[in-house]
This record gives sequence, structure tokens and C-alpha cells, in this order.
Amino acid sequence: MRNIHKNIKELFRPEEWTVTEFSYDKETNKNNETIFCIGNGYLGMRGFFEEGFYDDPSYTDPTVMINGVYEYFDYHYIWCRPGFPKRFHAVTKQINPAEFVIFADGERVDLTKKITEYRRVLHMDHAFVTREFCFETTTGKKLKLCFSRFASKYNKHLIGIRVEIQALDDVNLELVSSIQGQISEGNNTKEEIGSYQGIVYNSEYVKEEDGLLLSCIKTKRSDWAILCAVKDNLADFGAISVKKEGLSVSRQISLEMKAGNKICYERLACYYTDRDCDCFEEECKKAVLSDKASYSKQFEEHCRLWRQIWENSDVTIENKTIQQGVRFAILMLNSSAGDDGKTNISANGLTGVGYSGHTFWDTEIFMLPLFLYTNPELAKQLLMYRYHILPNARIRAKEMEDQGALFAWNSINGEECGHVFEAATGQYHINNDIFFAIYNYMNVTDDQDFLRNYGAEILFEISKCMAHRGAFVEGKGFCINVICGPDEYNPNVDNNMYTNLLTQMQLNYTYDLAMRLKKEDNALFVKLCKICEVDEEEINLWRKAACEMYIPYNKERELYMQDDQILYRDPIDIEKIPVSRLPLLNYLHPLNLWRFRVIKQADIVLLTVLCKDYFTPEMRKKIFDFYEPLTIHDSSLSAGVHAIAAVDIGYMDEAIGYYRQSSRMDLDNVNRNTYFGVHAACMGAAWLTISIGYGGMSVKQGKLHFSPKYDQKLGEFSFRIVWRSSRIEIAVKKTKVVYKLLSGNPVELYHQNISFLLKDSVEMSIGDKRQA
Ligand code: BGC
Repeated sequence: MRNIHKNIKELFRPEEWTVTEFSYDKETNKNNETIFCIGNGYLGMRGFFEEGFYDDPSYTDPTVMINGVYEYFDYHYIWCRPGFPKRFHAVTKQINPAEFVIFADGERVDLTKKITEYRRVLHMDHAFVTREFCFETTTGKKLKLCFSRFASKYNKHLIGIRVEIQALDDVNLELVSSIQGQISEGNNTKEEIGSYQGIVYNSEYVKEEDGLLLSCIKTKRSDWAILCAVKDNLADFGAISVKKEGLSVSRQISLEMKAGNKICYERLACYYTDRDCDCFEEECKKAVLSDKASYSKQFEEHCRLWRQIWENSDVTIENKTIQQGVRFAILMLNSSAGDDGKTNISANGLTGVGYSGHTFWDTEIFMLPLFLYTNPELAKQLLMYRYHILPNARIRAKEMEDQGALFAWNSINGEECGHVFEAATGQYHINNDIFFAIYNYMNVTDDQDFLRNYGAEILFEISKCMAHRGAFVEGKGFCINVICGPDEYNPNVDNNMYTNLLTQMQLNYTYDLAMRLKKEDNALFVKLCKICEVDEEEINLWRKAACEMYIPYNKERELYMQDDQILYRDPIDIEKIPVSRLPLLNYLHPLNLWRFRVIKQADIVLLTVLCKDYFTPEMRKKIFDFYEPLTIHDSSLSAGVHAIAAVDIGYMDEAIGYYRQSSRMDLDNVNRNTYFGVHAACMGAAWLTISIGYGGMSVKQGKLHFSPKYDQKLGEFSFRIVWRSSRIEIAVKKTKVVYKLLSGNPVELYHQNISFLLKDSVEMSIGDKRQA
């Protein structure tokens, strides 16, 4: 492990269930807007301020997002070669639901003025944010303000906002709350967007009607209509005037407050798009006008549902620094995952526009496991997203002159958006990753309905693609050439082992499935063959390619190779590269970068984690020893994988170092780009490090195994999972493990390969294979 990865400074004090900011600082503001984000899988709202931002605007990114709502932009190439993507799509900002300008005796309340007692708290238990401070006017009069917000888990269309203002002196208070009919994307938009002109919406209308503030907008090209309807609880306020000016409508309140007086302004903002339902405007208004639609009722239900989430998924860790990071990770993942089968999880969740709202392999390999073991229905919906975009994957395969289906490397609706083809389309392993997620899903749930109705079709199509992407090369076997594995600093390589080994597994699995269906349900088999245009010859090709798969192995070194070229790259001492030159891709021309023997992120090391039993323990150690020193970890996906691999081979100091880094990637701004949004895949890895890493969890022949390891630097820990409808807690102490059945039927488990029936609570000792 390199020195730069050690001794990372804590930016937030470790707290069990909260993250607290004690002062406003414009330099850290954009990062902290990410940390203090609220989301519910449909809506995400960064932690920008209700009262507005009055420092240099480049220090804020006031974004609200709806999962999957995007606009198209054309790529402009001087020379557009075959298969280059034609359009880029990017998630768009939504109407700000929380615009409150506040005046005390005519002076605007803002954080650049005299502020004391500032506190902002992310409450991870119930997924909400509060912020409070005292504001002092130039004549010394004081107001205390407290803001709260949450994105409802109960009704995903709603955001709740509460503004509480207490006068500490007699003061005239004015409050202007507006919603806009237009949004400026500001300076946070990606440079890729060649044709971007700053305005992506047409305003359909903005008005006050039936006591609601309404703003309906439509994207100019992708044609999404979005309505934001705002309902305020104004019972306490007496006369309120409504003002419409251009594309803005506002409510204005004036109050003479006496010292000690307190007001509370509660708001529900509701978002619907025309793709949510046919009568989206009616539904949207109905949702805020219904009886249940009060801030407090929504908040109560929201809290109830979050308690359930934690009951199924909480992790406790004695090491308080990592504890906070892991809870933050579980919170953010549950706040970002689309649950409707049509949306997914973007690389930055719903916390920022860094990856333009795109979904990558990050979901299948890094994030889906958390849901698979804590909320399998949600894991299924994430796979259903792939099923829904299968038509676009078929089109992409045709564009690439492939067969079957090739899933886009980065995308929202299934169209490939990655223009750096070497490290985008080149990553054919996206197909393998989707296979691997289906394989895991089936191992955990045995959901045959999913497999027959959806999974099989995906598997047939992606297997067809991979079987034709490769070729039988004399003297070698089935080779997959000129692709990119997970390591994006080594693109255009031949026989990336990650891709080849997973393709082998995938082709075998799909072949076996095809044979099983043919025998058990011939009608379905025939139907699938027809839809996917495959015949017996094609299916036999899958088996043949799998049997003859070339796996790169160096006999002299007795070591598996990441790919055929890795040993021939120019050696480089990565210790000598200063942090100011990272990530390397921003400082080196690709031809220079690719020359060097430097690995961006875990590639073959990841394979040793996913397909552990393929390798002997000695080989896993050898692989780590050889490849880890070559790895620069320029991707946030790397540290967590190295933590898991290090636990496995017993490198406990390395493990804790990498875990410290991955579990607090965003809390401590480790990769210096948290302002983009959280690193969602890294958060998935933070959960995996506890469960499959230290917890030694795995599934073998449909049975759940554990082989936990205790390490003093991590301390005692516990995690909870849902296994075939039973809820289980695994608590790892210094010398023993306590397995507890929290609810559901007794489950057969394996502790260090010894089976036992968990009915209530069972204690086993660590290391010693006998039952305690
Ligand atoms: C990584 C990819 C990842 C993407 C989105 C890149 O930096 O190299 O593996 O999918 O980020 O997180």
C-alpha cells in the first residue's frame, strides 16, 4: 500500500448515527452538498441552502435530480467512425423545491453575514438533514433558524421541507418563497456536451392554483414533461401575497415578530413526470392535496420505513471511524437505488451529476450484493432494468457488428454514451457482470420465475454476443481479443483474464440453462430460441467456447496474467508519482498512459474475490503480491476490492488501511472529487468488505457459508442479512461468532464448513472447527 493512502485525515468526527458539520466554509461547500444530500431512489436533492447561496456561485451545485430523467446532446465528431455513439445523455436538474429568501428588518439572511451556532446534521437513522444557525443583523438583532428536509421513502414523489424561525429580539420578518419555471444548468455541466447551450427546458406553465405553486417544464429534445407541485402549510401566517413575475411565482409573508415568537413553515414538494403515469399532472396534484400529505404524516411514515431498512441491513463495527463510513454507505445506496425496474443506480447515486446520471457495471458487481442480501426484491428490480433496456443492447450489438446483445458501458436508457471507446464499449465484461449478477441472484433467491421470464432471455443474448466476439485461435484456444478489462489503463488487450474466465462461466451456465429448459419446458425453450434467434448449433458453440477458453497463465512465474500484454509494458515506479499528478488519466496522453505497467484499479485481484474458489489460497496471495504494487487506485472502485482480497490472504494491516480508505471515500474526500457526488460503487464495496471480507460470507451449492475473521484494528462487528425470507444477524466477537435468527424459518448455515441449523441463537468459535 502506498504512503499516500495511509494516514488519511478525518474530515468529519466519527459519530455513530450522524454526520455533523460545525461551520460553513465555502471551500468545502460543494463536497458537503454531496454529504448532506437526501434521496429516495426516485428523487435526490443535494445539500444546498434554502436561503440561497451568496458566495461565488462556483462553490455550489444546487442540483435536484429525478432518477433516469435526462436530456440528449449530439456528439460532434470531425470524423465519426462506425459504432461511435451519436448522442450523449445527461441527467438534468429539476426545479428547486426550497427557495426561501428571508429578511430580518430588511437585511437578507445569508451565511456570509454574522452567523453563530451553526450546525448541520445528517441523521442516518431516519435519512433526513437538519441545519440550524443564529443570524445577527447589523443592529444586533438575532434570529434562530432551523431547516429540515427529507426525501420521502413512503411516497417517492415527495420531498418535505421545514423552516422554523425564532425571533430572539423583536424583528420584522419577511419570507419570500418562490418556484421557477426555468432552470439554469450553471457551470456544472460536463464538457462532453458539445451542443449544450445552458437551457434544456421549455416552461409549460408556472402558476398558483388550488393553493399550490406549480411549475411544469419539458426537456427540449428528449421530451420529458415534469411537474413540480408545492403545497405549504400556511395556517399560522395570516395575509400572504402571491406574485407572478415572468417565469417565477412566489409567496410573500411579512410578520412582526416579538422576541421569543416562533414560526414554522412546512412544505411538501411533489414531482411527477409524464412517463410515471398517463395523467401525471392530476396524480401529482392529488399526491400533495390528499389527507396523508402533511409534512408530519409523511415524515412519520418515512421514518418507519427507514427503521425497517436498518433492521434488515445495519452493520455495527467497534472501529468508530469505519462504523460511520459504512452506515453512510448503506444510507446512500438505499437513497439512490431505483426500485421500479426501469431506473437504476448512477455511479454517483442521486447525489451529483459527476457521471451524468449514468449506470455502469458498478451496479452489478459492487452495489447489487447489498440489496441481494438485505432487500432481494430491490435486487430483482435492478436486474429488471437490464431486461427493459435489452432492446437497446441488441441494437448496440448490431452497431458493433456483434451478435445477440451488448449492454452499453455507460448509459441511462441503454444507448451507449461512452465516446472514449477503448475504455467504454471496449469493456465487453459489462455483459459478464450482468451474467454474474443474475448468477448471484439465482444462488441467493432461487427465483425460477425471474430466470424463466426475464433472466434466460438476457443470458441467451449476451452469451451469443460473447461467443461471437471471441475466436478459436490455433495453439491457444478460444480468445477474446482487443477489449478492455476492468483496468482502464490497459485497454485494447488480448485475453483479459477477468473477461475470459467470467465468459467461460457465463457460457457454461447459459448452456446448462438451455439444456434444462429444453428438457423441462420445451415450449419456453423453443420460444426463447425464436426470440433470440439461436439454434442447437449456436448453443453447442457456447459450450465449445467455454471448454476451450484460453486463460492467460505464465508458466515460468507460475502466475495468472491479467492479460496477454501486461508483462510487456514499460516498468514504472508508481511510488515516485506525486498526488498532484493523479488521476494519471488527467495528466498523460493515453498513448503514454497505456505504455506503462500501471493498473488503474483492481482487475485480476477483483477476479480472485468474485471467483475465489477458482484459485488456490497460495495463488490468490501470489496474485495480490504481484499486481497490488502495480496498482495506482485511480478509481474509487479499487480500494474496497483490495481490502476484501487482503482480508482473505491474511494481510490484516493492508486490509484495514484499504478499508479505512474505501469506507470513508466521500466523508474524507479521499479522491478529492466528492463534489461530483458520492462514489456509489465504493460504498457497495464497503458493505462487501464486512460481509464477504471479514464476515467470510459465501454461497456454495445454494447454502450460506461464513468463515469470519476477527481483527483488533476493526474490532468486534455484526451485520444483518435476509436469506430466503429469514432475517439473520452475524455478530463476530474476539474468539467467537454469534448467529441469531431475528425472524422467519430456521436456516441451515455453515460455519467454517460445519453445518448447523439456526433456530434461535448459536455460538461458534473462530479458528477452531468444533462447535463451542
Ligand atoms: C472506473 C470504472 C467505473 C466508473 C464509474 C471509472 O473511473 O474506472 O470502473 O465504472 O468510474 O464509477
